[in-house]
Amino acid sequence: MTRELVGIGVRSAANAGIAIGRAHLLAPSELDIRQYTIERRDVLHEVARLNNAFSLVRSELDELREDVAPGAPNEVGAFLDLHRMILDDPLLADAPRDLVRTRLINAEWALTIQLEEVCRQFESIEDDYFRERSEDVRQVVERVLRRLAGGKPATAVVRKASDGERLILIARDLAPADMLHLKHRDDVVLGGFVTELGGPTSHTAILARSLGLPAVLGVPAAREKVIEGDLVVLDAEAGRVLVNPDAGELAAFRERLRVDAEHRAELRRLKGKIARTRDGIAIELCANIEAPEDAREALDAGADGIGLYRTEFLFMNRDDLPDEDEQYEAYAKVARVMKGKPVVIRTLDIGADKVLNETARASLGIAAGTPTVESNPALGLRAIRYCLAYPELFLTQLRAILRASSVGTVRILVPMLAHVHEIDQALAFVARAKEQLKEKRQKFDARAPVGGMIEVPGAALSLPSFIQRLKFLSLGTNDLIQYTLAIDRADSSVAHLYDHLHPAVLKLVAQTIRAGERSRTPVSVCGEMAGECDLTGLLIGMGLRQFSMHPSQILAVKERVLDTSRRSAIQLASRVLRAADPVVIRAVLERASLERVAARAH
Ligand code: PEP
Ligand code: MG
Repeated sequence: MTRELVGIGVRSAANAGIAIGRAHLLAPSELDIRQYTIERRDVLHEVARLNNAFSLVRSELDELREDVAPGAPNEVGAFLDLHRMILDDPLLADAPRDLVRTRLINAEWALTIQLEEVCRQFESIEDDYFRERSEDVRQVVERVLRRLAGGKPATAVVRKASDGERLILIARDLAPADMLHLKHRDDVVLGGFVTELGGPTSHTAILARSLGLPAVLGVPAAREKVIEGDLVVLDAEAGRVLVNPDAGELAAFRERLRVDAEHRAELRRLKGKIARTRDGIAIELCANIEAPEDAREALDAGADGIGLYRTEFLFMNRDDLPDEDEQYEAYAKVARVMKGKPVVIRTLDIGADKVLNETARASLGIAAGTPTVESNPALGLRAIRYCLAYPELFLTQLRAILRASSVGTVRILVPMLAHVHEIDQALAFVARAKEQLKEKRQKFDARAPVGGMIEVPGAALSLPSFIQRLKFLSLGTNDLIQYTLAIDRADSSVAHLYDHLHPAVLKLVAQTIRAGERSRTPVSVCGEMAGECDLTGLLIGMGLRQFSMHPSQILAVKERVLDTSRRSAIQLASRVLRAADPVVIRAVLERASLERVAARAH
């Protein structure tokens, strides 16, 4: 009989959200830990065992880091770096040695005592992200314990899949390093995985998305409910796992996989097609990127340009700040890869949930110990506010972006503007940066346009003065929703209230697009709404002509564009904008979607 397990489904646009395969239980990660006291004369020996195990794991992680293929998702390298950092942290690397010396206990025991101490510290932090990082510490320690026990890395023992068979890994937890290792093994065809631990923001979830594998996480006692070799269907869309499904269920999932594969093949054929509505309105589909390496993926997906380059990721997870040359290299690389297609580079959006390391902050003169997270970080010193508070930081970045404008079509985008005086100050800084470059005889495009993000309701309600000063606008709907509805976008307890179909949000979006149209100021949407296929027609109906989204969404949105006509889109938008209730709005959109499918079938 079919057994059903329930957890948190994780999928990305890159997969069908379904995997069918044979269960493979990964060796339990709770190792049998020997605990015993030692004689003083054995202290050196135990410390040497610890040192040896640490250095074996160090080489293991370094090797994996070197193996990261150039095209691999950025998160992969970042997680390996994080595990390497954890391994070298004195709290883990030195404290167990002291415990061996002072308490006269064996290496394994000392390491597990320290592990519990470090995890206790992490788990007391009231933040899902940090709480989940204790799992990273556990994974690193388990690696060391395995080496102390004389074993091999856990994934070295994964059984070989028979011809074409996919393996669905069932584990307590999967370390990013292990996932990467498995993904790159030629003899293992990985279908997806099920873990007992992990939440929606865990590294396992983030990596699964970027590796394009479906997963169901947080399934209690999964390893006791599945037997090695069981036939497993993983349905990440619904967050469930079917163990030994019956023939009917299996056939239904196979059919879903087949339809998805067909659809993907169809979408790939759209790559070279120009995005035009049925009645010939051209729509620009650009990509959002976080690192220069992502530009290639954007091009491969057929992006018309980069609509949002989130530069803050170049500044995060490091102890120094990137200097002008390093920034220039990064920005110029994107401009070169895009070969003349527009590249919108957003100035630093640091603050709120994106913080600089303490050492990097010290280089800005911020005293050590100053809290990084104020009581209301999303309303605090963030984005343009941060840049105006640290003029050198801002000027350095502006010079680097301007220099990159000499090798491509670069536009400067300023985030989180709320006040007109912020625009005026930002523009004054751009002018100052240009003077500085002229003094140094450095090349730049003097006409590189400066635009602003509309992501604060106050900005969306002051459009005339914004339009007067800025060359283009970009609707950051992720933040616009957060600030319009007073929902912290990082707080899962209010996530159910975060609604892009709230009439107030839609009104602000529509007004901004209309104001842009009237004044001939280009307006794009670069928040997640732009990549939501079900909103493509609505946004076109509101008058939107430029979308920017994650590269993986571009073809699916293009398909909708090709299927939309201006007239029907305008009708849809006017119906939606007349509705005052998100439930009604949803119903209107669903009806439009059904009509679209029916029209296609004819
Ligand atoms: C937005 O707020 O919609 C946006 C695109 O910016 P970010 O998600 O980086 O805050
Ligand atoms: Mg934003």
